[in-house]
Amino acid sequence: MNRKSFFVAIVALALLGAAPLYLGNPYYIHMIGTIMIYAILLFGLDIVVGYTGQVSLGHAGLFGVGSYTAGVLFFKLGAPLWLIVPASIGVTAGFGALLALPALRVTGPYLAMVTLAFGTIIQILINEMDFLTEGPLGIKVPKPDLFGAKLDEHGFYWMVFVLMVLSLVVVDRILKSQLGRAFEALRGSPVASDCMGVSVYRYKVYAFVVSAGFAGLAGCLYSYSEQYISPNTYNFELTVLFLLAVIMGGRKSRTGSLLGAAIIVILPKLLDDLDMFRQVASALAVLVALGAVVGVAKKMTTPRAMAIPVVGTIALAGFSFWLQSITDWRLSIFGLMILFVVYYLQDGIVGFVRKLFFRKTSLAGAYQGMDSGKDAITVASNADHSAAGSDLLVAKGVLMQFGGLKALNNVDLRIQRGTIHGLIGPNGSGKSTMMNVLTGIYVPTAGDIAFAGRAVVGRTSSDIALSGIARTFQNVQLFGEMTALQNVQVGLHHTFDSNLLDVALNTPRYKREDHAGVERALGLLHFVGLGDLASEEARNLPYGKQRLLEIARALALDPQLLLLDEPAAGLTAPDIKELITIIRKIRDHGITVILIEHHMDVVMSICDNVSVLDFGQKIAEGKPADVQADEKVIEAYLGAPAA
Ligand code: ADP
Ligand code: MG
Repeated sequence: MNRKSFFVAIVALALLGAAPLYLGNPYYIHMIGTIMIYAILLFGLDIVVGYTGQVSLGHAGLFGVGSYTAGVLFFKLGAPLWLIVPASIGVTAGFGALLALPALRVTGPYLAMVTLAFGTIIQILINEMDFLTEGPLGIKVPKPDLFGAKLDEHGFYWMVFVLMVLSLVVVDRILKSQLGRAFEALRGSPVASDCMGVSVYRYKVYAFVVSAGFAGLAGCLYSYSEQYISPNTYNFELTVLFLLAVIMGGRKSRTGSLLGAAIIVILPKLLDDLDMFRQVASALAVLVALGAVVGVAKKMTTPRAMAIPVVGTIALAGFSFWLQSITDWRLSIFGLMILFVVYYLQDGIVGFVRKLFFRKTSLAGAYQGMDSGKDAITVASNADHSAAGSDLLVAKGVLMQFGGLKALNNVDLRIQRGTIHGLIGPNGSGKSTMMNVLTGIYVPTAGDIAFAGRAVVGRTSSDIALSGIARTFQNVQLFGEMTALQNVQVGLHHTFDSNLLDVALNTPRYKREDHAGVERALGLLHFVGLGDLASEEARNLPYGKQRLLEIARALALDPQLLLLDEPAAGLTAPDIKELITIIRKIRDHGITVILIEHHMDVVMSICDNVSVLDFGQKIAEGKPADVQADEKVIEAYLGAPAA
């Protein structure tokens, strides 16, 4: 955040905090309070939806768990505020772990359905467990005491305000830390996350738990705010509203969450008031029409693209005057809004405004001066340098069967420390499959693999990665929405010891680790020649540069062994030269390399040893020149019998 937007944010928050002083009407004060409570939930929901890219229709249920933890603790035990707030957060976080379980198995529409079922079950449980929750009767919760005095409407508003600002700061810190990068990496590429030592399993659960914690806090405040809770509040409509708020406000944005919260609090009220709805619909039609005219005049959009929104909003305005009563149409209107957002506002309102006004927010140079130029490549501290020449990796009898196909058939492989080992063979011969077996993505049907004396088979990808095997992918697997720098920082995840508390409190330990991480990441980017592109989003980089970025990210893992799967594919001739230099330098740093490559000149010029696969079998092995002259190899490549 730059200085100007920081200033704007402070002024906006100050205005929000001072609202009770200039807003006389308690109705509005209560409404803004509710917006802030929803915003707390949405900050959390955005972690799951916006960052990890999972769908959750279970957050109304979590909100209910938070509310009822507070309600029950008060009603049954008369528990005080200072106990109820942490208890609500803790209990709901526990339920968040439950909600995460299905997310580990299914994604997309299936996950949506399972989380929806979760929300429904919570609502039913609240309804049925009347010995605890009083069932449909609900629970009355008066405003809490703070420092021995009962809070009035204003006092409560300020408490909510303070907690909202605290949540905002904490969420922001989490999302900018290694934890937030881990969440975002899940969305970008789960496979690459695991292979960078960021366990998908662990961080999915983590994201749901943290997200649920915020839902719990929001739910708890909601019960004090309404002073009465009953099961039917936490229904399907609320969960849809929450999702609408995140998407419409703009995912991956705290401003978006606040905006979304305001929309979902005000919208239902608006839809209860026909006159107001007519005015707003008319105003919207005028705004969209004006926007379209300006957009077309400035050549930012075409008349064709704007036709449907313009006609649609005018039709909505016409419809509003035709309507006699609006209540029956509420859900349909929400549905239409979701459709509209999905088609026209994919980045939400915040994303749309950003695009309009800050089109060229290049951060280029933002990190200049921080660049250390220090030696960015290091090898895992447990690396055994003395044993150069000994075997780092030994694979014996590896069999990988896909149905009837033996993608790898009884392959043995010995990789000597400190060498560049070429793995070549025609397309479909099993080279990439070998890498996937070595990195735990596939579990081989049979065979043993030992890396630095430790068995590999049966361990998770992230565990294998952390023990010193890094890789790149044949089909590039970057975290597309993250910057080049952040991609490398994900690779540095293992260098962080600081936990959630360190991040939330911004402790010296976290600051030190974060600073060191940025320096090393920049150093690694320089090493592969991407120093100037640190703040470019990975998906915007040219293909060849994406491949180099993958190498930098893999080096961040401090690997002993680096697997490169066709790194030269798609590179121009000068880039290939550069790549060869880079790979040599990597080896000179003591990192062992396995190189899959189709460019024979690359293989021949830098490999110390070469193994050749054909139809899943190893058909030759040895020095590059010998292999090149081998008859079986020539036959495999030319597809005709030699002789
Ligand atoms: P290479 O990298 O040498 O071009 P691969 O290792 O990608 O070859 O593929 C080897 C063979 O295994 C191919 O026939 C491919 O279709 C098959 N294969 C690879 N992965 C799978 C999978 N997940 N399921 C089924 N078949 C696969
Ligand atoms: Mg391949």
